[in-house]
Amino acid sequence: MKSLRLMQWKSEPELVEVPEPTPAPGQVVVRIGGAGACHSDLHLMHELGSSQLPWGPPFTLGHENAGWVHALGPGVTGLEVGQAVAVYGPWGCGRCAHCQLGIETLCEDPGSAPVPMGGGGLGLDGGMAEYMLVPAARHLVPLPEGLDPVVAAPLTDAGLTPYHAVRRSFDKLAPGATAVVLGVGGLGHMAVQILRATSAARIVAVDTRQEALALAETYGADFSILSGAQAASEIRALTSGRGADVVLDFVGSEATLSLGAASARMLGDLTIVGLAGGTLPVSFFSVPYELSVQTTYWGSRPELVEVLDLGARGLIKPKVTTFSLESAVAAYEALEAGELEGRAVIVPTDS
Ligand code: NAD
Ligand code: ZN
Repeated sequence: MKSLRLMQWKSEPELVEVPEPTPAPGQVVVRIGGAGACHSDLHLMHELGSSQLPWGPPFTLGHENAGWVHALGPGVTGLEVGQAVAVYGPWGCGRCAHCQLGIETLCEDPGSAPVPMGGGGLGLDGGMAEYMLVPAARHLVPLPEGLDPVVAAPLTDAGLTPYHAVRRSFDKLAPGATAVVLGVGGLGHMAVQILRATSAARIVAVDTRQEALALAETYGADFSILSGAQAASEIRALTSGRGADVVLDFVGSEATLSLGAASARMLGDLTIVGLAGGTLPVSFFSVPYELSVQTTYWGSRPELVEVLDLGARGLIKPKVTTFSLESAVAAYEALEAGELEGRAVIVPTDS
């Protein structure tokens, strides 16, 4: 089968022929219906390397996947061939306290995981191929009735990651609160919808691109602001000078982190989700009093179940542009150039 593989650090992925996977005991092969193209993949191609990550190329890209069960390894029960499933992407040891809770992102025995702190498309072969090997049946979540794998795929990361970030700050998103979404791309356009569907907070969307701001407004943002030097004072003006209770930074650059700190309210949360590599000096007088600055990484399996439910009920819906496997490189180029709205999803096969 064809697969889109990252062959080495600091390189463009290549479409190459690989053998179809077969499942060993306990494993499942999924026929991919959709594999989302995440900005993290651009970081993998261009910036990251062995100094940040305990695994490396070659591997097939695509950590945001859904499809149908294709083959069950010996001993797998509870799944049927042909059943529609989403792949829970972070694969931990399965036994530590966090993995038992379904928070495999934060596995505490990563040496016993298939790769430490990774998963399919992140050190192991992902979904940008016709078939994907999933090393344990627990990583598959049955799709609720009516949810198309092409739509479900982005829910597993572009949906799950902002959902987890929103849940972490949920007690600060009471009616009357303000949430700021910095960066309205794949993750950010889902964050706006998740905030709308699950909270009564006022939503302020910030991006450098007018099209992204227009998209945020169609998904329910109350205000949209062009990113730049004036943005923090505009956010303060919208909040009677108080600032935003929760700032979710889906960029993570020097510019957005300082904007986030400058527009946050005392006692608020500033959550760094984007991997652009910026830093923020944090000291007693440099940020609002009692601001919590935190990072979040992806989400838990129970949270994925909740995100899929929101998707199946039509309360959140990724804006998807589909690409064939042959045009996956073009999808990443469009993502990098800021020409996409929402999420690009690679659909490897016709049906
Ligand atoms: P994307 O390219 O689809 O969206 C990024 C958006 O940010 C774009 O709309 C872009 O115009 C906007 N932007 C860029 N610079 C800006 C600025 N200075 N001010 C305001 N907006 C700006 O990317 P994505 O796939 O949504 O991913 C977003 C980030 O989140 C990436 O860094 C990705 O690696 C990271 N990510 C993190 C996790 C995690 O678990 N922490 C998970 C998935 C992705
Ligand atoms: Zn991702």
